Amino acid sequence: MRLVMKFGGVALANGGKIKAVADLIKGIKEEADGKEKELVIVTSALFDVTDLLHETAPRVVKEGRVEKVKEFVEAFRAKHDTVASDAIADERVLNVVKSELKERIEELEKALIGICLLGELTARSCDYIVSFGERLAAPILAGTLQSIGIDAVHLTGGEAGIITNKGFGNAQLITGAEATIRARITPLLADNKVPVICGYIGETKEGITTTTGRGGSDYTATLIGAAIDADETWLWKETEGIMSADPKIIKDARKIPYVSYMEAMELSYFGASVLHPRAIEPVIKKKVPIRVKNLLMPEDEGTLIGNKSEQTKKAAKAITLIENTSIINIVGTAVKSISELAARIFTVLAAEGVDIIMISHGSSERAISIVINSAQRKKAINALQNINSNGTVIRDFTSNSNVCAMGVVGTGMAGTPGVAGKVFSALGKEGVSVIMISQGSSEYNISFVAKKEDAYRAAQAIHDMFEMGK
Ligand code: ASP
Ligand code: MG
Repeated sequence: MRLVMKFGGVALANGGKIKAVADLIKGIKEEADGKEKELVIVTSALFDVTDLLHETAPRVVKEGRVEKVKEFVEAFRAKHDTVASDAIADERVLNVVKSELKERIEELEKALIGICLLGELTARSCDYIVSFGERLAAPILAGTLQSIGIDAVHLTGGEAGIITNKGFGNAQLITGAEATIRARITPLLADNKVPVICGYIGETKEGITTTTGRGGSDYTATLIGAAIDADETWLWKETEGIMSADPKIIKDARKIPYVSYMEAMELSYFGASVLHPRAIEPVIKKKVPIRVKNLLMPEDEGTLIGNKSEQTKKAAKAITLIENTSIINIVGTAVKSISELAARIFTVLAAEGVDIIMISHGSSERAISIVINSAQRKKAINALQNINSNGTVIRDFTSNSNVCAMGVVGTGMAGTPGVAGKVFSALGKEGVSVIMISQGSSEYNISFVAKKEDAYRAAQAIHDMFEMGK
């Protein structure tokens, strides 16, 4: 049985936790169930380290003081050394790991001093700097496995064949890279080794480090799962699995035992932070099942994400909320057609890198409404003001940040009459006024926008109406 298993930051919060992860891996590898296990491990950075690097890089540029860089690097080195010493019992292995860490931290120090002196942080150097989270975690986890008798070897994303385009901060695998991944990893498996691969990071053809976006080690794991024809890809988290709603907001939110690829994609794009948005795509063609497993209950089946479009009768399985959203209503001038208006709006927003969460257009109006993340509101408004400098495209636009976007997800709603009716009657009964509605023609998602103050009540009413957690 060939398994790819990914471990995220919380699982790697300290030496004790890393040791527990290594024991879990060993248990699975050596389980006496008659199946020979080929395991590939994908690791993210130690807990909080990616955030820390993301904060540090711009700070270093701003401060421009090399002694501050040295201070940071010293603390960073100490942190990783302590974690390694706590996780790795075998003295000989620990020494090797420590010297690997030392070497890599020297590279990081050079990079930080470089941006500090230049006073400039490019997307490319930022990716290089944040990649050190994973570059340091992989030797520690591999060393921990070695010290309990597992023949582990660590590889960076590039070494494992994760060859990407130059989309720094959000890089994607290039076509043909699957073959490289296979060629790099399968010989190790044939040799009974356990590769420990840096998640999140890849490399361009020229060998420049890239990252695949926050939470990207999920994506690395599923890319590898598809490339080596794994039987399953397991994403280990400290959560029960994919939930019917956010349990912090909705009472009775429960784990969903099975979701289809389409549902998982809808959920990850629409605010459920359990998966990297692009993590599902790679496995669809090869039909490699993904399992979201709970580290706190390793025996639990978790949530299985697979190919069967529907295993439960539920039309709507989950509700997600995207908080901190803004709605922008754009009214065109009478001289422009709605297509021209849309073309102009989307062109400038795309050029500014504004991601649109929802779009709607009422057919009788010369107006388009879009929903975006509030963090991008200023950028969007500036862009719209710019196209409007001569007033021939847009008559007026208004924005409102006091809103929340919500998505009701389930592939079972496709072709099932009455689902939207139920959604909106639940909202009506609750006295929630709906500001905007959109439903994709896939019919896997009904999304709407309500006032922020109504959002939790609205979500609870819909969760109850469809008995989602049951
Ligand atoms: N370490 C990266 C991040 O925090 C990737 C990951 O955790 O999956 O975003
Ligand atoms: Mg992380």
